[in-house]
Amino acid sequence: MQSVTVQFELDVENALMEGRAQSGTHLLELTDAEVGKLTEAERKELLTFKSSSEQANFIIRKDKLPHPTFEALKSYLASTIEKREQRDVEQARKLEEKLNQWLEMTGEGAYVTPVPYITDTVRDRLNPDLLAKVQEEGTKRQKARADIATLRKKAEEKIKKEKDRQEADKQAAKAKYIAEWVREHGTRSQKDRLAEDLLPRSEALESIANWAFSAFSDYAPVELEDLKPTCKSDECGESCETERDIKPAKGLRETTYERFKALRAMANAALPDAAVEPVLMSAKHTCDHQDGCKPAIMSAAKVTIMIGPLQFVRHYSLKEAD
Ligand SMILES: [Zn+2]
Ligand SMILES: [Zn+2]
Repeated sequence: MQSVTVQFELDVENALMEGRAQSGTHLLELTDAEVGKLTEAERKELLTFKSSSEQANFIIRKDKLPHPTFEALKSYLASTIEKREQRDVEQARKLEEKLNQWLEMTGEGAYVTPVPYITDTVRDRLNPDLLAKVQEEGTKRQKARADIATLRKKAEEKIKKEKDRQEADKQAAKAKYIAEWVREHGTRSQKDRLAEDLLPRSEALESIANWAFSAFSDYAPVELEDLKPTCKSDECGESCETERDIKPAKGLRETTYERFKALRAMANAALPDAAVEPVLMSAKHTCDHQDGCKPAIMSAAKVTIMIGPLQFVRHYSLKEAD
């Protein structure tokens, strides 16, 4: 048989002040009478100090208990029970406050804020009416959240469908316009191929663009790819790429401006809806050598024409003729 043993770790200072010579480990064997004097709560509390040491069943650290006596042990257990009780009551009070705030929330915030977490130890101390209300409201809000998500998803689907429909309508209108144009202006071959659904869309678009820009036959169209930057540096190798860009022109020299004006006047006379704006086209190497790299820069007029539902853009050089 073995009796219940509690190991105390005595602090030397406390031992001295208590008029004792021994400090350090002290084992207290409890008698039946002593265990009988502990309340049920105190016994349960003692269980929380359970140890796996061979010397003792329970260990209480030295800073917790200076006196190695049964009376000190009993009052220590009572005080820790009381402290825990106070802590739990305080936690429950704070949680009730939080739960009430949560219940009072309105609007979207209420639906996205989760219920404050309720731990098992505190749950028993909460006002049962409040707890029931929180549970009921939690279920309600969860359902509302799901409903909102469903509604939102439905609305998004509707918007997407509408967008897809509009895009399909746009494409259909373009295809219809292209077919009508070819039937009226296309070559014999284009008409035949259209009838057999064998006319490439790109070819038809190119013919329409040439037709649309026929008024500009005196001007040379340019493309960004035509710009050829150079670099004299030996370091400019195969990995060097070319950066190309078109920006609205910030300023035009006198002769360039005169050419722009003439082109714009001609465009407006031939195609009143055409938009004509001056731009700066540029291309440069990414190697970017201070004195070796020579970017290619060109002032041009950007002409935008709408032909039915089709938009065409071409650039015309404003460079002086060589
Ligand atoms: Zn380069
Ligand atoms: Zn370079």
